Amino acid sequence: MQPTLPEELRLLQRSVRQFVEEKLQPLEREIEAKDEISRPVIDAMAAMGLFGLGFSEDVGGQGFGKLGYCVAVEQLARANASLWNVIGGSAGLCGTAIDTGGPDALRRRYLPDLLSARKIGAYALSEPGAGSDAGSLKTAARRDGEAYVLDGAKTFITNAPIADLFVVFANADREKGSKGITAFVVERATAGLEVGPNDAKMGLHGSTTAQLFFHEMHVPVEQRLGPEGGGFQVALRTLDYGRMGLAAHAVGAAQRLHEASVAHAKARVQFAKPIAAQQAIQWMLADAAVEIHAARLMVYDAASRADRGERVTDRAAMAKLFATEALGRVADAAVQIHGGMGYMRELWIERAYRDARIYRIYEGTSEIQRLVIAGGLLADS
Ligand SMILES: Cc1cc2nc3c(=O)[nH]c(=O)nc-3n(C[C@H](O)[C@H](O)[C@H](O)COP(=O)(O)OP(=O)(O)OC[C@H]3O[C@@H](n4cnc5c(N)ncnc54)[C@H](O)[C@@H]3O)c2cc1C
Repeated sequence: MQPTLPEELRLLQRSVRQFVEEKLQPLEREIEAKDEISRPVIDAMAAMGLFGLGFSEDVGGQGFGKLGYCVAVEQLARANASLWNVIGGSAGLCGTAIDTGGPDALRRRYLPDLLSARKIGAYALSEPGAGSDAGSLKTAARRDGEAYVLDGAKTFITNAPIADLFVVFANADREKGSKGITAFVVERATAGLEVGPNDAKMGLHGSTTAQLFFHEMHVPVEQRLGPEGGGFQVALRTLDYGRMGLAAHAVGAAQRLHEASVAHAKARVQFAKPIAAQQAIQWMLADAAVEIHAARLMVYDAASRADRGERVTDRAAMAKLFATEALGRVADAAVQIHGGMGYMRELWIERAYRDARIYRIYEGTSEIQRLVIAGGLLADS
């Protein structure tokens, strides 16, 4: 069940799917076992244009807009979730922050490298004491002549172990609360930047995550993204787009799990007939189909509105909340329908089930999406 898409996006959808099935799916077990995505795999995804999908051509993007980005990301979800996580953390979050917040000089200096994956980026907002309440972050930025001096720490930063470039959020005026938050582009070689070891995770194997520490780290004023105090707006605008991508990925991951569940239900015979003949199984499959269809429509709606220039904070939060919660239910049903085999490492279903858990946590938990949606409703009334 696919909503109608323009021909250009149907072609993109087909070509990304073919690339994923031919080039990425054969690597699934290796990526999972080694907990590593090799540089040639990143280069192959970059050569397919997957880092620059939603960005404009003047900075090296593919110019497909947010809808094209979501359509492609959905197909990318047909292999390890960690593959997209590298792109999402780099182009999706770091690149979007530079694109939305950056003066043109920073956009032109950094985006072509990020969108071709010559450089890998990371987005450093969360801290040990500031996750859901990101506005309370404690990393300090003190102005010192033509530089800012940053001190503090970040936690759970996707791509940190492999990143060349970081968008870092720090507070330049604690008395102003979140209105003091300022965003900076920081190169890895900057003195005073320390990257912690790669965190061990439940899933997303192949994607790296680490802490960052800033010790009297000097960042030139020209590396500031937008005005002093404008950083939290950059963070929130970036998350609007990040959440759409995450929701699109959840739709694709759920779709693949559902297709496997339908096929297994038809093939597996118990009590002398396929388990698909049992109404208990049919209802699981039907409920999943409804949820995936609804989630896809929500993602495409949010992305189309973004392409028309609308602010999509509420729609992106709704799509992220619904699609990621739906993925959790579809993944659970997929394991159930596969029975014991669903629990075995021999099948990819077990990995997809573990990978599915993160979607409801990062880029704002499900509870925080509800707060965002309610905030919009109450502000309008
Ligand atoms: C694998 C991974 C990758 C990540 N990548 C990045 C990254 O690249 N960059 C980055 O900046 N961050 C990243 N994060 C951090 C992620 O965004 C945070 O973990 C997330 O926002 C939740 O914050 P927290 O972990 O501090 O949980 P907490 O904020 O401590 O929340 C704990 C629980 O309390 C609930 N809660 C909190 N406040 C409220 C409230 N007001 N109402 C109701 N419930 C509430 C939450 O929903 C959650 O259930 C990553 C995290 C992980 C696990």
